[in-house]
Amino acid sequence: MSRSRPSGYSAESSRILRDDPGMRAAVTAATRTFDDHRRDAWTRIDADAWRSWAEGVKSHLLTHLDTYLEQAEERLVANGAHVHWAETTDEALAALGAVVDRHGVASAVKGKSMLSEELGVNDFLEARGVHVRETDLGEYIIQLLGEPPSHIVGPAIHRSVEDCRVLFHERLGTAMDASPDALAAAAREALREEFVTADLGMSGGNFLVAETGTLALIENEGNIRLSTSAPRVHVAFVGIEKLLPRLDDLSAFLQLTTRAATGQPIGNFVSLIQGPRRADEVDGPEEVHVVLVDNGRTRLLADDEAWEALRCVRCGACLNICPVYRQTGGHAYGWAYSGPIGSILAPGFLGLEESLPLPYASTLCGACADVCPVRIPIPDLLLKWRRDAVDEKLTPAAERLGMAAYATAATRPGLFAVGGAAMRGTPLALGGRALPVLKDWVGERGPLVPSPKSFRRLWKEGIE
Ligand code: SF4
Repeated sequence: MSRSRPSGYSAESSRILRDDPGMRAAVTAATRTFDDHRRDAWTRIDADAWRSWAEGVKSHLLTHLDTYLEQAEERLVANGAHVHWAETTDEALAALGAVVDRHGVASAVKGKSMLSEELGVNDFLEARGVHVRETDLGEYIIQLLGEPPSHIVGPAIHRSVEDCRVLFHERLGTAMDASPDALAAAAREALREEFVTADLGMSGGNFLVAETGTLALIENEGNIRLSTSAPRVHVAFVGIEKLLPRLDDLSAFLQLTTRAATGQPIGNFVSLIQGPRRADEVDGPEEVHVVLVDNGRTRLLADDEAWEALRCVRCGACLNICPVYRQTGGHAYGWAYSGPIGSILAPGFLGLEESLPLPYASTLCGACADVCPVRIPIPDLLLKWRRDAVDEKLTPAAERLGMAAYATAATRPGLFAVGGAAMRGTPLALGGRALPVLKDWVGERGPLVPSPKSFRRLWKEGIE
């Protein structure tokens, strides 16, 4: 079944979540649990020191990316892997299409990969008549539902166990009161056949070590290991920013990423792929293809400020702590990467105009920066994209006029006081109807009740 591809910010998706208390509760509970575990895991290490070290390694990597990419290609080829360079989505899919045609691929299994979501791999393959099966349990659930993932790490966190009971009862014949273990067992049983019969296995890549050409994959279920070793061909999609310089760097990044993501000291399974099966090995694919994908990353790297977003290791910690994500879920962001990191990657990957209003989807509380394991200054970058949007006149004309008028009033105390007195008790209290420019800000909320006294009056009277 094909999953509908995200195509941009969707207010409708936010409304669906707003109007579905059960779904919102599931998102909030899951993100709080992830964050509690992350908090606990960080008390067990010197998290500040680890984060500063990781920031340094990734910044060094990104500022020498050309050198490390060449080194990685050299090592991958020496290991027997095929390397494909893809500047765009079309080039990445063309590389995949060539492999599919050459091997006569009829069915494929895939481990969780956000880059494959970014590229629309499933739709591409299904349009060519290839049967594609997601093998991560969360991904499997939402594939059956025909939905895209709503979280980088937990793709189905917006769905409850009850939703899964109904789904699996209809699709796999399990009992309506099946336990979570029974549901997982049914999925495992259904997937076993897919692993055995698939011609092609696909994955992303958490890290690619330039020094050794080692592809590192983190997971908890073992499905990635099966997807990358049972079929005769393995295709891995790797963003060019996912490199690490040295094998020595890898062990710390594996631990830091999972501690930030789920609080685990390390994933249940870590696969280190060194190329195709060798003559003396019994397992593994005959061919390994690594597709190194740019798709906007070089453009982002060229930006003096925004390049820092490329340090991201996709742990999801910034989503889990974000008060906006907790209320809207991931679908509202409208593309593969949601939450705070999605809002700063989108302008770089898709273009600023295309990605508006995502940089505004934040309260700028700063919690995301506090938890990021590679210290990406997310609030600063959100502001940077907002500034660029204003400079490039991409915000609505009415908003620009409104802001100009506000700036005029705010820099003239007398005018500000008169304006404030005039507004108290009238237009805002109408839920924005009297001031259309405020419609999107206040239209979804109950009527605002202005304070009977101005802030300055309260200040003079002595605020506690
Ligand atoms: S921005 Fe930081 S916290 Fe958010 S997903 Fe990326 S690495 Fe994790």
